[in-house]
Amino acid sequence: MSLNLKNHTATIKNLAQTLGFDYCGIAPAQVLNEDARRLEFWLSKGFHGGMKYMENYFDLRVDPTKLVPGAKSVITLLLNYFPSQHQQEDSPKISKYAFGKDYHEVIKEKLNGLIQLIKSTIGEIHGRGFVDSAPVLERTWAQKSGLGWIGKNGNLINKKSGSYFFIATLIVDLKLDYDDPFVKDYCGTCTKCIDACPTNAILDEKIIDGSKCISYFTIELKDALIPDDMKNKFDNWMFGCDVCQDVCPWNRFSSPTNEIEFTPIPEVLNFSANDWEELTEESFKKIFQNSPLKRAKFNGIKRNLKFIGRI
Ligand code: SF4
Ligand code: SF4
Repeated sequence: MSLNLKNHTATIKNLAQTLGFDYCGIAPAQVLNEDARRLEFWLSKGFHGGMKYMENYFDLRVDPTKLVPGAKSVITLLLNYFPSQHQQEDSPKISKYAFGKDYHEVIKEKLNGLIQLIKSTIGEIHGRGFVDSAPVLERTWAQKSGLGWIGKNGNLINKKSGSYFFIATLIVDLKLDYDDPFVKDYCGTCTKCIDACPTNAILDEKIIDGSKCISYFTIELKDALIPDDMKNKFDNWMFGCDVCQDVCPWNRFSSPTNEIEFTPIPEVLNFSANDWEELTEESFKKIFQNSPLKRAKFNGIKRNLKFIGRI
């Protein structure tokens, strides 16, 4: 292997660490044939519910060279978001990933910084960074980069640190030294996530019926009403759901994030049901202007709170 390949790879991994990413793994940019079949099956079953955007860009999702011409490497970066603080007991529950500033903004900035640093240290390259916003199968790339396995709950699980990570992907037209894929699956006979899921959304073979997931209903569903057959099943979740991660034994290794931008917004931790009830649209927009909660919008949040019987 050329010295350049090794040097460039070490440089990129160091830069990623400097920018605050917790893990960095690299895989060759190849077509994801097996995942293409799985995605096709998932879509054909309607497991994406009303998330019609999932049907778009099928070709791009499974072929990185269609996203970046001449793509050689897919760099996967993990950023821990596990918070050090909890919500107040009995508050309507919010998924931990949404405690602080919107991760899209935080990670986009880091990815842009990484591309610039790669260019200034290694030379002119072409690359595009993605975070949950474009057609990339992030978890697959993370597994192919040796960062963990995809658990029965559909999350990427890192053996040392669990699953409370955001996954970002950087596709570049630069050949690098590749990590071995993570081939083992340490779920074993465990079924804790399947047993604990309040809406039975976790099916066999690591397939999640997204159309039954509380995260889908409370964030993605734009209808004025949540279907009645879900009544009393949300277990007090008003935005997202962490049940299948909270019960996962591998998350006993989670440690608090070092990312200052993910410091919880005080209202996320302290708002009681009564505070949520009294919240006006104007205050919502002000308090949550940089929060992932804005994705559900004010009306969505109020709809969710009504549905779980908290206002
Ligand atoms: S996030 Fe909640 S509802 Fe969705 S699959 Fe996990 S446990 Fe089930
Ligand atoms: S709870 Fe058990 S089955 Fe589910 S992802 Fe974790 S280890 Fe795997």
